Formats: sequence, C-alpha cells, structure tokens
Amino acid sequence: MRAVDIIARKRDGAELSTEEIESFVAGLTSGEIPDYQVSAWAMAVLWRGMSLRETTDLTLAMARSGEMLDLSRVVPFAVDKHSTGGVGDKTTLVVEPVVAACGVPVGKMSGRGLGYSGGTLDKMESIAGFQTELSRDRFLQQLREVGLVLCGQTAELAPADGRLYALRDVTATVPSIPLIASSVMSKKLAGGAQGIVLDVKAGQGAFMPNVREASRLGRLMVQIGTRLGRQVVALIADMNQPLGRAVGNALEVREAVNTLQGQGPRDFEEHCLTVAAHMLVIARQASSLARGRGLARAALHEGRALEKFEALVRAQGGDPAFIRDPDLLPSAPIRGSLSAWSKGWVSEANARLIGQASVQLGAGRSRKEDPIDHAVGIVLRHKVGDKVQLGDALCDVHARTQEQLEQALEELQPAFRIARRPVDSLPLFYRTIRA
Ligand code: URA
Repeated sequence: MRAVDIIARKRDGAELSTEEIESFVAGLTSGEIPDYQVSAWAMAVLWRGMSLRETTDLTLAMARSGEMLDLSRVVPFAVDKHSTGGVGDKTTLVVEPVVAACGVPVGKMSGRGLGYSGGTLDKMESIAGFQTELSRDRFLQQLREVGLVLCGQTAELAPADGRLYALRDVTATVPSIPLIASSVMSKKLAGGAQGIVLDVKAGQGAFMPNVREASRLGRLMVQIGTRLGRQVVALIADMNQPLGRAVGNALEVREAVNTLQGQGPRDFEEHCLTVAAHMLVIARQASSLARGRGLARAALHEGRALEKFEALVRAQGGDPAFIRDPDLLPSAPIRGSLSAWSKGWVSEANARLIGQASVQLGAGRSRKEDPIDHAVGIVLRHKVGDKVQLGDALCDVHARTQEQLEQALEELQPAFRIARRPVDSLPLFYRTIRA
C-alpha cells in the first residue's frame, strides 16, 4: 500500500480500513514513510476526523508498534493516569508518588512538551542526572523494587506515537480528537495499564477549547479503553487558567515538591487528591472516592509521597538533593513582574497566552529539535477571583535575558483581565465520564 494513496483517501474523507491504518503505522514506525508524508496524513486526519473503529484501530496499531508490557506478574493491578496536556500541569509529579505511597505501584510513560503545553519528561529533566529513557527490563525492575517509574516511550514502547507526537507538535496537528485519543490510549495500553484515569483539560489553555469538546474526547477514550477491556474514567478539568501557579520546567518541579511537602497551592493539591482518589478506587485500594481521598491526603501530609518521589529520582539517576535545597534546580538570572494596572478582581489569567509566553522564554519548543531552557518560566501571584490592588504583581517572569523579560511582560499583559466587580474563582473539575 502506498502512503500517498492512504493520505489521499483520508484527505477526501474516506474511512480508512484496518489494513490501511496498520500499513501506515508500520511505515511510520520503521521510518519508511518520511516526515512530510506523516505530517500530511496527520493534517488530513485533523480535518476529516476518524470513526470510533478507525481510532480504535489506530490506537491498537500504535500500541503494538513496539512491545506491549504485561505487568500482571509485577503488580496485582496496573493503574495509570494521563493528562491531555495543559499549562502548569505538573499533576503527575504529585499524583504518582501519592498513589505509590498508598501501596499501588505505578509505572508511567509520559510525553514531552507539546506546543504551549508542558511535558512531564521535560520537567523531570530539570533534575540533574534524571534519566527518562529506560529499557523494558529496567522499567519492570524499578516498578517491582520502587513501586514507581516515570519514563518516556522508548523505541521498545509505542514508538509510533513517539514519532507522530513530535511531528504533530511542529505541524499544528495537535488538536485532533482521534489523534489525541489514540496517542494517549496507545501509550496506556503499551504500558500495561488495566485501569486508567484520564485528566481531560477543557478551556483556553487546553487542546479542547470547551467542556463539550473535552467531553467528546473523554467519551471517546473511555469507549476505546472499554472496548479493549480496560477500566477507564475521564475527569473533565478546567484549563482556562494554569494549574497551580508555576509554568516552566524547574519552576514546576519546585512547586510539585512544595506540594509533596504539604505546602503547595491549595487548588493544585485539591486537583491532585481528586485524581489520586479515582486511581485508588479503580485499583480497588479504596472502596469510595471519599476513602481514596483520605488515603491520598494522609500519604501526602505524612511525607510518604515525598519519600516515594525521592526514591523515584534516585532510581532514575537523579540527584534528590534539590528536595532539601531547591536552589540546586536550574534558576534564571533575570526576574521581573507584571503589575496590576488597576485595582479590582482578576477575571482572566489566560492559560494559552501564559503558555505561549513561557515557550517564547525558552521553556517549550517551537521546532522539534529545539533545546529547552529548564530554568525559565512564569509564576502566577494571582488567579481568577483574587482581589488585587493597583501595582500588585500579577505574575513573576523568570528569564534568561533582559530582552526576553521585556518581551514576555508585553505578551503577558493581554493574558490578564481585571474586573471592577467580584469574580468567582474557576472550578477545578466540570464532570466525570465513566463507561
Ligand atoms: N497527550 C498525549 O499523550 N498525546 C497527545 O496527543 C496530547 C496529549
């Protein structure tokens, strides 16, 4: 089958057969199909969409493009979470150690930053020495011994998604429901998850702009997972403003560690406890969400989750000294703040604009080969609903150069709005989708 014919059929709105999808994914994995054809196909899928059958086929073909882990001999029940991507979303760094500290081992394959949305692997690489590429044997050994793994999809695990994900990032083909659903679910299947909690973001800083679209994505992933015999829950979460306060790799690691020390932003801690509670229920470690939340809160506030995080960092070659001394994390030489231009209530802290400003600072990539500056980013001092006085700092910018600082301040100004009347804070979650 020729790649160009498959691209043309999708361009013209046809439903691709299972064989066509398998053939395309095989060529994508082997490298036989060049970047420009993969990109053209991704754009055709973005415009034309895919049926549930096509998306399930694509998910399975990408999961099978490498090895499918069988974790049943390593853990009693493999549970995992995945976020569809957002700004300031460092949930994994807190939730996975919390769940592991509650006695449920988690082995997770994460992604890199995609567009203006950050990636867990980039964040973890702010930690000196931390290795995100693990072989299968090492993944299994660490899961058995430490109960917690956080790595990227290697050549052995879902390699098709690794290549496609990087190309979509730089060809404006990220916000496609079938491409996101198959990307997320293929990694979860290859990683051996039997139970999956999906943190599906909705709003200005998400790939899905509103709750309706996010719910479509959530429902599709729940359907794919259920068809393939997995237990899946999708939580539709707000991403109109950044999650927590920090945006940028090392800044987010610092905020995650603060949260694991019980000193993080309340809204971010709440978000993490909810995701963790769902994971504990799916893994049958808790009989109700309230019990799961209680277990998660205790693991966090008793310091057990922080110990797990430290063990994870050490197991993957990182130096955990930064947990006691956060100044060991990369830090940017230039700082400045955006000041409130009037008094009132913050009515918008636009996650997309804030994410874009952080990419401009160097925290994300514009091209797939771009290096990341782990030190730079933005820290919100106020979020939607907060009262501010004239001149109060709305956010702090951590930049590499004075020029970057000034550019970021200019870009950040339209991200914030200040209203004259009180404004409600935004909800953390909108709804839960189950099979
Ligand atoms: N997260 C993923 O793993 N894949 C996507 O396509 C988007 C978010």
